[in-house]
Amino acid sequence: RELPIDKEEHNFTRQVSGACFSRVDPTPVDNPTIVAYSKSALELIGLDEEHVQSKIVLDTLSGCKKFNGSETYAHCYCGHQFGNFAGQLGDGAAIYLGEVVHKDKRYEMQLKGAGKTPYSREADGRKVLRSSIREFLASEAMHYLGIPTTRAGTIITSDTKVVRDIFYDGNAKLEKASIVLRISPSFIRFGSFEICKQTDSMTGRKGPSFNKPQTLVTLLDYCVKHYYPEIWEVHSNNKEKMCREFLMEISKRTAELVASWQCIGFCHGVLNTDNMSILGLTIDYGPYGFLDRYDPHFICNASDSGGRYTYERQPEICKWNVGKLCEALTDFIPSSDIQDIMECFDVNYNKSYLSRSREKLGILHATEAQDKQDMELIKEFYNVMEANGSDFTNTWRCLSNLNFPTSENFKESHEITLTSLKEASSTLEELKLAFAPKMETRELQMFVQMAQMNPELLNRIGVGANIVLRELQNREKMAEIKDFSDEEALKVYQQNKWNDWLNQYVKRLEADIEGVNTDIKTLNTERRNIMNKANPKLILRNYIAQSVIEKAERGDFIPANNILKLLETPFEDHLLESNIDRLTLTDNKEESVNR
Ligand code: AMP
Ligand code: MG
Ligand code: MG
Repeated sequence: RELPIDKEEHNFTRQVSGACFSRVDPTPVDNPTIVAYSKSALELIGLDEEHVQSKIVLDTLSGCKKFNGSETYAHCYCGHQFGNFAGQLGDGAAIYLGEVVHKDKRYEMQLKGAGKTPYSREADGRKVLRSSIREFLASEAMHYLGIPTTRAGTIITSDTKVVRDIFYDGNAKLEKASIVLRISPSFIRFGSFEICKQTDSMTGRKGPSFNKPQTLVTLLDYCVKHYYPEIWEVHSNNKEKMCREFLMEISKRTAELVASWQCIGFCHGVLNTDNMSILGLTIDYGPYGFLDRYDPHFICNASDSGGRYTYERQPEICKWNVGKLCEALTDFIPSSDIQDIMECFDVNYNKSYLSRSREKLGILHATEAQDKQDMELIKEFYNVMEANGSDFTNTWRCLSNLNFPTSENFKESHEITLTSLKEASSTLEELKLAFAPKMETRELQMFVQMAQMNPELLNRIGVGANIVLRELQNREKMAEIKDFSDEEALKVYQQNKWNDWLNQYVKRLEADIEGVNTDIKTLNTERRNIMNKANPKLILRNYIAQSVIEKAERGDFIPANNILKLLETPFEDHLLESNIDRLTLTDNKEESVNR
């Protein structure tokens, strides 16, 4: 109510100036059907399983009806997309149902895919089952991995059809309009603050409210007051200090967030400023990917041809985005403050990355003097993983097999660890396949055919079929052919390096227990517990998501629900891969995920 609201109340698209929100109604769908729901997410807003089964809740969460007294609205925001300011671009696809205060906590509820809003531009404001399942499962998976994220309460599909393109063959396909209920303390983004941006020198674009700076003041005050009340309490009378503290906190949270992504192998894929939460939450799950084979240059977004959003570049890009947020608020803070805010990012990123990595390594004791040495050990670990095409998750997980060097069964545990490390690596053949983009064109074409018959094959080794297809298209343009030979593959593939690394690691573990009095058995247990809470056994691999989606598109929602259940305990040892096969499958053996 405190924020500027656009007065028009119709679902037509337009430029909106001087407002942060527009009132808009969701567009009803035909025959809404619930696909899955997250019990714990719904609990946040006081809904239980019985509610979800009721018609009124189903109608409301699909956008067919409104809660009593609910005034629905969409949020106007801008953003830097792939490095360029793009003007008014969101939110054309999400509608707020309102806010709920439950157990003294306040949450915003949003329907993603509920139809057109004033910000939908040329698009329809709808989402399909594929993208909705991906957003729903990833939100909940990240939550259970302990990573700050917006939540997803329900996913509802319908008989309303929307047109979408799949891949690049130009064929339109009709898909089912599907809606996700998202829940978060706030959905406000960095891009929300860019609506008053003056004309951008690169693109010539300007924010829709560029001549209404009061909008920005109101938005800033609102956000600090509601989302950072401790800053508001102290600094509400001094805008400069208030803004500085606000940005410092966002910088810190963002740095910690991206450190947690790096440590779990999560690649967001679209780190535009409009997909950056002012609360440091993971937000807007699109073409994200969890790393399978460790590849620092992994790109999960098929439209990211320049590789701006690779896994490796995420920290740098998030920091750049924090800089853009500072720019948007430059009227309120001196430039010397901006420097501090940027430094705050680095300090917190490094601190967070190192301490998370130490947990993953099971290093229990560390002094500042060991920081450099430990960073080297971590770096070399990733180098060896890369050289062997190792699976990110499985490689980390198997380190907890190793006991401290003075343990009785140290030798045995050493052997087991080395074997598991090698097992988590790709085979030479898989590694060659992983380098498909460097293969000869004819080989690549065969590969695509093979992938169309068995998409899991590509997903498993970390090369999405769409990426291979894009490579083929580029080839046609550039006519540049490179063969990835056995010789080259062997150069990359260096399993003997695991030996060397493990020796370094053992030395570090020796140092870790120097002068510590606790008995070694207790220490090993403690160590294993810490490691197994930092190294998940289960992540939402692309082939898993894909397999669930294919089933759901044929009307079988059981696999989606089964996988959700497993994702709720990602650190448990009882989660064997064979469970996933069993649970994602129904009757047809031949469609089995060969894992
Ligand atoms: P994204 O790159 O997915 O974060 O999308 C950026 C913006 O594009 C969103 O904030 C929406 O405003 C808009 N958008 C994405 N998908 C749709 C859609 N199906 N209909 C309307 N607008 C959309
Ligand atoms: Mg977005
Ligand atoms: Mg993959």
